[in-house]
Amino acid sequence: MSSEFVRLEKDSLFEISQAVGKQYLLDLDVERLLAPIYEGASQIPPKPSYGGWESLEIKGHSIGHYLSALACMYEATKDLELKERMDYIIETFSLLQRADGYLGGFLSTPFEQVFTGEFHVDHFSLSHYWVPWYSIHKIYAGLMDAYQIGKNVEALNILKKLADWAYEGSRLMSDEQFQRMLICEYGGMNEVMAELYEITQDERYLYLAKRFTQHLIMDPLAAGVDDLQGRHANTQIPKVLGAAKLYEVTGDDYYYRVAKFFFETVVLHRSYVIGGNSSGEHFGPSDTEPLSREAAETCNTYNMIKLAKYLFKWTKDSKYIDFIERATYNHILASQDPHTGCKIYFTSNYPGHFKVYGTKEDSFWCCTGTGMENPGRYTHHIFFKEDEDFYVNLFMASSFVKEDEQLKVVLQTDFPISNVVKLVFEEANQLFLNVKIRVPYWLNAPIEVRFKGQSYEANGQGYLMISDTFHADDEIEIVLPMGLHEYVSMDDPHKVAFMYGPVVLAAVLGCEHFPACDIVPDHLSLMTQQTIRVPKIVTDYQDLNQWIELVNQKTLTFKTAPNAKPGDVSFTLKPFYAIHHERYTIYFSKYRSEEFLNLGDETLSRDELLFDQTVDLVKTGEQQSEIEHQFKSVESYAGYLADVNMWWRDARGIDGSFSYEMEVIPNEKMALLVSYFGLNGENLEPVKRVFDLLVNDELIQTERLMATKNVEVVDVVYPISSDLLANVKPNEDGKYKVTVSFRNRFEDSIVGGILEVRTILQA
Ligand SMILES: [Zn+2]
Repeated sequence: MSSEFVRLEKDSLFEISQAVGKQYLLDLDVERLLAPIYEGASQIPPKPSYGGWESLEIKGHSIGHYLSALACMYEATKDLELKERMDYIIETFSLLQRADGYLGGFLSTPFEQVFTGEFHVDHFSLSHYWVPWYSIHKIYAGLMDAYQIGKNVEALNILKKLADWAYEGSRLMSDEQFQRMLICEYGGMNEVMAELYEITQDERYLYLAKRFTQHLIMDPLAAGVDDLQGRHANTQIPKVLGAAKLYEVTGDDYYYRVAKFFFETVVLHRSYVIGGNSSGEHFGPSDTEPLSREAAETCNTYNMIKLAKYLFKWTKDSKYIDFIERATYNHILASQDPHTGCKIYFTSNYPGHFKVYGTKEDSFWCCTGTGMENPGRYTHHIFFKEDEDFYVNLFMASSFVKEDEQLKVVLQTDFPISNVVKLVFEEANQLFLNVKIRVPYWLNAPIEVRFKGQSYEANGQGYLMISDTFHADDEIEIVLPMGLHEYVSMDDPHKVAFMYGPVVLAAVLGCEHFPACDIVPDHLSLMTQQTIRVPKIVTDYQDLNQWIELVNQKTLTFKTAPNAKPGDVSFTLKPFYAIHHERYTIYFSKYRSEEFLNLGDETLSRDELLFDQTVDLVKTGEQQSEIEHQFKSVESYAGYLADVNMWWRDARGIDGSFSYEMEVIPNEKMALLVSYFGLNGENLEPVKRVFDLLVNDELIQTERLMATKNVEVVDVVYPISSDLLANVKPNEDGKYKVTVSFRNRFEDSIVGGILEVRTILQA
């Protein structure tokens, strides 16, 4: 979208983030990223590959993302070091590309097998290999970006040879075999082939683009049927980008319907307030916004923005830019650590959780790859120029310079801190333009535009147009009245978020029970970190301005009245994009006082019900929680129970046992609360579950569990004697801790499984 003419203004919100993203790219070692490509060409790399996903079967995908990132960042900043790196990678690719055109991060073995037509396939496995088309698609896309955005001509030659290899290899596959192959995630192979057809007009690439269209997914979308529940989100989004490109090159309405319906279904019915989608990488039921530590995978949003861009190009409908703005400010900008440039994978919306970032050496997730690209793409959606139409879409401080038209427009603003935007025509030689200024959905009063002494106003969504012959020093002043507004979730009128203009505000909640480091190789390792309780807002005011106060305009910091219960707590709200390395909540529970008084216990979650009486909590089977409680075990096993979204731990054999160090309060009446899964009825299982519960080696009870098929968490309370508690001595930190142990009774018996162990205060 006219990005080659755009520069961000120095030290503006997005330029600062762009600079951090650029440094991240420069910090990476090109040779290490290239290592898998050497291996794919059966050569020994000069340096070893990186760790994490770059040492797994998917390896090589990162060099593709990196190429795209270099191309975009070079276009956006004109830093020659980026171009040198890009050119060096293309040269190396050239040397390593096989005579038949193959170029990938691993040997072509899985593809050779697939091309025979006889192969094993699963959603994430093809020929027993982890998503080979997904991985190699990133190399295709990187080459395409290096050619189209980075203007490297050799990249196109390599890309054509790589496409020829795919064409020749798959030529003898039947359509049925090809569709079977597409069961396994394949990235946007259809999109890159359609783009290559657009450039070369070679029909073979169009043929391949159409073949890479999975009818199982596309046909319902084309028919306007939402069949997305349970599907892996980011497997589908790139396919739809392929459909969008196929519409552009063929004009076939089928592809248009796919793109349009998919966008609407995902954005209107399956997205969160920040513009992201998915929970645990999958689409859930329509019109739900589940609170999850594994919400909103970041690369999904990278791809949804690309889809919005296609739809805008075709329709010029400002609603697509509204989405790009929402997702860019609240998800993309929020997903990069401003200090280190490290990227996040999921974007937790679980109240009180936090962001988890990947390391520069040992992560290389999908979202690290798209995360590398994101800052170089900030310039892509600000302006759009088509003949005499000049769209001002996003209000980012930037300039648009098109030398052949002697046009230089500077967009001066401190938005979203300020609501004033100036468009200054520093150069314009009697150029006729229809300047179309986006009227965003979030305005709380009509947009005001002043030009040549005239005032213009507009309401609602769309564009306010000023048509004139522009001269140097012409100036358009725009005021975007913005204020606080509430976002109500799709699935619960009491689950709300707060926004200021397009900016999602989140409460900063400090670092209680915070991990020692939140930049980790394995993004899942901190998903189980102990949580904190976020109070509920209780207010009878309809107007947010009655109880939320702006305390710092420069940082857009707000403070709520002390109306959150329990504790009459007041929240500090900040833009979600500015919150890093501390706990936060995006969604709040909000009630009127009468509703709150009548709030029965049943509306509280189990966690909330137990929160106040809980002194200490071990989430059994969850790594961090167990480590923090000095977990010890003999012949013990753990696993995940999807029915209740909790982990369990058991122990087997005559020596089977496990234990934790847990906090108690000696002078209080206390008990152990142990949580089991569906074990409160008659014994339907042939397995014996008989074991001892001990506190400081003193037997509390011998438990015999009975099993039912009830899909629920069952809590059992075991009182701890006051004598036992009286003998507990404080440790160095002044805390009183006991050893809670579970020991098996028989060789053929099992301890638990146990979902949680708490020490609680008894009434
Ligand atoms: Zn991802």
